Amino acid sequence: MSIKTKPIQFFERFHWATLYQLCPECGEQMSEVYKSCERHSIFIWYECPQDQCRGQWLQRYSRDDF
Ligand SMILES: [Zn+2]
Repeated sequence: MSIKTKPIQFFERFHWATLYQLCPECGEQMSEVYKSCERHSIFIWYECPQDQCRGQWLQRYSRDDF
């Protein structure tokens, strides 16, 4: 990420990644690598499939969504 990136742009990318599970670094579709079920939530850990990219994403879902 550029040091010139404004906070609002970061937030928009954050939201975009949350909706589509796209890498916040490069925009690639992320791969699901780990899933953890808690009492009220499900956590899914995503990683970018690109070797050059270290993008990671942890998504929390409410069990009510399923
Ligand atoms: Zn990436």
